[in-house]
Amino acid sequence: MQKMEHIGIAVKNLEESNTLFAKLFGKKHYKIEEVASEGVKTSFFKIGTNKIELLEATKTDSPIAKFIEKKGEGVHHIAFAVANIEKEIKRLKKEGFVVLNDVPKKGADNKLVAFLHPKNTNGVLIELCQEIYTK
Ligand code: ZN
Repeated sequence: MQKMEHIGIAVKNLEESNTLFAKLFGKKHYKIEEVASEGVKTSFFKIGTNKIELLEATKTDSPIAKFIEKKGEGVHHIAFAVANIEKEIKRLKKEGFVVLNDVPKKGADNKLVAFLHPKNTNGVLIELCQEIYTK
């Protein structure tokens, strides 16, 4: 893995949370993006080299809606940048981790993403992400 890419925080109301986090950070989010396939709307803040992703469910059966129902709002996942996501998935599976999606899917912020099951990572949902290069 290359570096921590961002921390994902599940929120009930993206608009209200954007205002709240803008007050906290002293600056506004730099983008809002909806990932329809995941039933989620996201916003991103940049703090130095770190990013914070806020996630709001856009439908009741989305993973974020289920997470909030079970645990309430709060830290949802930690994302790490990888150079080659397919290679990393293979490596981690060999190490005994459970990858929730073997085939990386298109996530927010121009990334290919895959998630590791939190049962093998001390309860932390880990996201792997690889930048999609477009030319
Ligand atoms: Zn994320």
